[in-house]
Amino acid sequence: MAQVKITVNHNRCVGSQLCMHFLPAVFEMNESGQSMVIDANAADITSIIQTAEQCPQCAIKVEDTSSGEILFPPPGLGF
Ligand code: SF4
Repeated sequence: MAQVKITVNHNRCVGSQLCMHFLPAVFEMNESGQSMVIDANAADITSIIQTAEQCPQCAIKVEDTSSGEILFPPPGLGF
């Protein structure tokens, strides 16, 4: 399984908790009510990308740590 790095942009996250509901083993709410990553390896890449796509704020970036490729968001969507 490829390793991924997941980053939550706290300038964008509004604490909707969607990511936590989809992948509770990966995301958790911090004390400020924003999402944080607790275990990037607790789900498969497809599920992580699908969850990032659902974020209403496009606040989740998914990166392949071996190649450095940005798996989400696509270029132009911003982060
Ligand atoms: S889905 Fe997006 S906006 Fe909602 S808590 Fe997760 S990172 Fe934040």
